[in-house]
Parts: sequence; structure tokens; C-alpha cells
Amino acid sequence: MTQYGSPEREKTEEERSLNFIEQIITEDIKSGKNDGRVHTRFPPEPNGYLHIGHAKSICLNFGLAVKYNGLYNLRFDDTNPLTEEVEYVDSIMEDVRWLGFDWGDRLYYASDYFEQLYEWAEKLIIKGKAYVCELTAEEINARRGTPTRPGTESPYRNRGTEENLDLLRRMRKGEFREGEKVLRAKIDMSSPNMHMRDPVLYRIIHASHHRTGDRWCIYPTYDWAHGQSDSIERITHSICTLEFEVHRPLYDWFIRELEIFPSRQIEFARLNLSYTIMSKRKLLQLVKEGYVSGWNDPRMPTISGLRRRGYTPESIRYFSDRIGVAKRENVIDLALLEHSVREDLNKKATRVMAVLNPLKLVITNYPEGETEEVDAVINPEMPDPGKRKVPFTREILIEKDDFMEDPPKKFFRLAPGREVRLKYAYIIKCEKAVKNDHGEITELHCTYDPLTRSGMPDANRKVKSTIHWVSEPHAREVEVRLFDRLFLKEDPDDVEKGQDFKSSLNPESLKVTKGYISSGIDGAGALDKFQFERLGYFCVDPESKPDKMVFNRTVTLRDAWAKMAKNPQK
Ligand code: ATP
Ligand code: MG
Repeated sequence: MTQYGSPEREKTEEERSLNFIEQIITEDIKSGKNDGRVHTRFPPEPNGYLHIGHAKSICLNFGLAVKYNGLYNLRFDDTNPLTEEVEYVDSIMEDVRWLGFDWGDRLYYASDYFEQLYEWAEKLIIKGKAYVCELTAEEINARRGTPTRPGTESPYRNRGTEENLDLLRRMRKGEFREGEKVLRAKIDMSSPNMHMRDPVLYRIIHASHHRTGDRWCIYPTYDWAHGQSDSIERITHSICTLEFEVHRPLYDWFIRELEIFPSRQIEFARLNLSYTIMSKRKLLQLVKEGYVSGWNDPRMPTISGLRRRGYTPESIRYFSDRIGVAKRENVIDLALLEHSVREDLNKKATRVMAVLNPLKLVITNYPEGETEEVDAVINPEMPDPGKRKVPFTREILIEKDDFMEDPPKKFFRLAPGREVRLKYAYIIKCEKAVKNDHGEITELHCTYDPLTRSGMPDANRKVKSTIHWVSEPHAREVEVRLFDRLFLKEDPDDVEKGQDFKSSLNPESLKVTKGYISSGIDGAGALDKFQFERLGYFCVDPESKPDKMVFNRTVTLRDAWAKMAKNPQK
């Protein structure tokens, strides 16, 4: 696995300066190209929800425009009526906005350019650079040749201009069946670049489009629409992923032949994340086949899933920036994404104490029926950390695994005869573990030292460990969803190994459990963020109800990335 931006070294001053795209843009500005204008776009196809890879592309495209005082467009690349839906259009806009970008009035649709693209197709025909071909898709493929063997020219390649125009017009009118005819560019069947071997520009699809309805029955291919849309919008820097590098000569050919605005295409390596799949087709499969609850399932790598999981826009933007732009394929460690959200939530999340796996603890020398309030810190990372009152009582709940009857050497928490501090409250000593008939521990009996509370003479007395707790009579039961990685394998989609991505799904990616919280969550609403002390970051699920609260675990507190950064050799 390539470790681009691996944790063992922070970026040097030079690396932090300009990435290769910024270098190109700075040079273009210097040379006065496009009057120094910088105009970028994000061109999603509305055939699925956006994922973290798209987030990278959005942050890159829009971030560059912002950095160079330019403009950015949001353009739906909606050229395929068969896979596109309004639901996707809406979700994409919501996600881009949530990430923190505002496209103002620059919202466009490739479908708005259908008429212009059609005119350009006629222009190519008139120039003798396009023809209507009647070979089937299979025949076209069979005649394409291979990179080392030239293709065979279509028998329809040398039709006259009038005949081509007439046929294209009739294609548009709907006189032919799907697959009967296509329009192809007339370039070079022996070009070493397969994309130059008379690519298809239009195919007949008798289907309604979500915006143009039944107005069209011929639809432009991606290659015919994409670059031209950039030219129409006078996009200066058309940034895309590496697989389009080989399409660039074709796009440049269109620009020359049509004499249109020469957008400059720049390719960068797409984001790949370990333990994650990013193919929309496969993500759709997970949704359709019920492996997840929907596109916004908190285990999905979608922006809506990450949002529901508790990710913040800032954490995603930081992540995006941190990974930089690469020219070669690489895989980013999922731990870096998790690290990014931890860093942000550490600064923002309200601390509360929650117990997920409760063990009852009775403080036998504490007065029965009494409640006292201790001060808990809301967030120690804030300039003004703030304080909140937390009820303390004779009967409390602690985490089961904070006690061991027969502790090994390195266990410093509660055990018979041992002392620990209850966070924000007293030091207690374990006197006895009470068991039921099956020998299972049902509760602990402890005593407390009244002089160890804050403000008391022994407040600073040191013990080896501090544990969190919740007052039992005040405890409120909530539902807690513990999410883990959706896939067990680093590369779930290892095609070379012939592995089906669904076979590496993690059967334990979701565990639903109960949690107990005594204070700090009243009035908390959808997506409010908390740190459950010592356990991790959690947020309120949007479907949570005040009388049946649901929390989603964003991440645990264990930061594998930070650890690697400190200790690279391990
Ligand atoms: P497909 O085209 O196969 O449906 P796609 O992921 O390319 O899938 P698009 O809607 O075409 O989806 O993507 C919109 C933009 O996002 C494109 O410019 C694309 O290059 C970029 N993009 C998609 N996936 C990634 C990724 N993993 N990393 C960076 N950019 C990406
Ligand atoms: Mg695409």
C-alpha cells in the first residue's frame, strides 16, 4: 500500500507550498492566460449520492477557485437518462452546501447544453468530421482493434454530408430504434489512442430525462458532453481524475475542430481509502440489497453517511487538504480520516459521562437518599471550558470492564482493596464484589473518602486511575449504535484476487446497545456532538426522539494515526 503523506513525517515547508495544480494555475495567471481568470467546476453525474472521493474533488476544485479569487460552478453532468434521478440531484446539492460551499447562481446542467451540442454535431458533419454509423455496438467494438493493432474503418464512414445531416436529423426526430444508428466522430481508426478511433458521440435512447422530458431521444456520450460543457462555461482549469488523461487528446481535438474555448484539463489521482469502496455502482448495490439502511447509513463512505455518523464539514475539508493532490494512484489510510474528525471533535464536542456496559456500585458509607452535585468540565479544549453540574449519589453505574476481580499486573483500575478516582468526584475503595448464585458479579460495594472531592484537603491525592460513572437514580437509558468499519479487508475490492467486495463485509460493523447518561444531554438535537468520556465521540442520530434518544458512535478515542505518527517504526 502506498502511504501518500504517511504519518511518520510532517510535510516540509516546500511540500506545504504549492501542489502541481497550483503551480500550473500560478503560471497561467502569471502569463496572463484567460486574462488571469480562474474558473473551476465540480461536475457530478446525478446517479448516486456523493462520497468522500467526491468531497476531495469538491474541496480541490472549489478550494482552488477560492484561493485564486476565482469562481466555481456546480454542474450536473446529466447525459444519461437511464441512471439519473432527481433524488440524487437534491442530495448532491445538500451535500455540497453542507461541506461549506456556495455556488451562488452558478448552477448548471449539461442537459441545458443539448441543443448547443447538437448544433456542434452538425458542424462536425459539415466539416466532414462526423458520420452516422449503422454498425451495432458489438460490431463497433469488434472493429475497434487493439492498442497495437489498428481498427477497421466503418463501411458508413464515407457517407456524404447531406446524407449524414439527414440521418442525424431523423435520429433526433425519433425515426429509428435504439441501437440502430449512432453518430461517430471521424478521426483515425489506426490511432494508438483507442479513444481517437471514431468515438461515438450520440446514441439513440428512447427514455425520458429528468429535466428535458421527452424532448430528446438521442443523448450525447460522456466524452461528447463533458469537455464541451467546460468550454461553454469557460472553465479555465478542468480538473479530473487520472482515468481521463487518455481522453484528453480527444477533448483537445473537439476544441480545435469546433473552435471553442480551450479549457485546460488537469488530471490528479483519485482518492482511494483503505477498508472502503468508492464505486457508486457498488454502493448502490449495498443499498438495494439491504446490506446497509440507505445511502446515508453511518457506515457508508457517502457524505450523507459521514454526516450522520457525526463527521463535521471541517473535518472532511481538513482531511481533503491534508492528503494533498497526487499524480499517481495511491491509497490513503482510513485512520487518517478518523484522525481528522477526532481532532475537530476534540475541540468542539461537549463532554458527558455515559456508561455502556453497566455494573452497579454502592458506596456504603455515603448517606442514603442524598444527591450532591459535582462540577464536570464541558470541554477542556475550549478557551472557556465551562462547567456543568452532575448528580452524585450512593448508587452509581460504572463500566463493567473497569473492574477486575483478579487483575493482571498492568490493570490499574478497580479491584478488591484498590482505590480509583471517580471523575470529578471522590476517591473510592473497593471493599467487596457481590455475586449471584451463578457466581456472576452483580454489584460492587465500595467506600468513599469524603476529603478527596474538589475543594477538600485531599482533593489532589493521587491514585493510579480515574474512571467515569453515572448516578443510577438519575440515569437515563438511551440507544447507542456502535459502528465499526464496513469492510474487514484493507482492499475490499481486490479485483485481481477475484474477490467479491460483499464477501469482505464486516458482520460486526453495527452493534446496537444501551447506554446510561445522567446529565448533559437534555435538549440535544439531531447531530449534536458529544464525547462520552473515555469511550469516544458520539452524535445524536437525526431520527432520535426526546423520549427515546439514539446516539451514533463516530469514532473511538484511540487514535491509530496519531500513534503511528509518534512511533513510526511500530
Ligand atoms: P461514475 O462516473 O462511474 O458514475 P464517478 O465517481 O466518476 O462515477 P462522477 O459523478 O462522474 O462520479 O464524479 C464527479 C466528479 O468527482 C468527477 O470529476 C470525478 O473525477 C470526481 N471523483 C469521483 N470519484 C473520485 C475520487 N475517488 N477521488 C477524487 N475525485 C473523484
Ligand atoms: Mg465520472
